[in-house]
Amino acid sequence: MVPDSAPRIGLGWDRHALVEGRSCILGGVEIPNEVGPKGHSDADALLHALCDAMLGAAGLDDLGTLFPDTDPKWKGAASTQFVEAAVSLLHAQNLVVASADLVVICDSPKLAPHRAAIRANLAQMLDLPVSRVNLKGKTTEGGFGGAVEVQAVVILIAARKA
Ligand code: MG
Repeated sequence: MVPDSAPRIGLGWDRHALVEGRSCILGGVEIPNEVGPKGHSDADALLHALCDAMLGAAGLDDLGTLFPDTDPKWKGAASTQFVEAAVSLLHAQNLVVASADLVVICDSPKLAPHRAAIRANLAQMLDLPVSRVNLKGKTTEGGFGGAVEVQAVVILIAARKA
């Protein structure tokens, strides 16, 4: 039997179209840009992928099941709320995030000028040192059709000995 203290890995993915007239919020950081992710909440694809990685690792339902985009309660919601809720669900199971790594794929906005701010914000939300949270931006030379896609992996560990 695998011990309950063994680490758990989770994978998350999200993709949103980038459209005019939407704020561009990624990782909880507002980025000045002509287009932003379309969606029911603030459409922060980065935080959505992160949440799904956390929830997946914990064996919980995914983000869309817990916070359905048919629920008016979540219209325009800040996705930082979803991260806070996911962290609480992990804590209820005696789990914490030990590290996270993300890939953000889009041609616009350029991530590099905002990478440090996003990384710091993620570290703060997950109560981790910055060295345990990382992200990289990838561009596709126009091959991506005006969207932002995010892949996230996290490792969960037991918060304390049971
Ligand atoms: Mg999403």
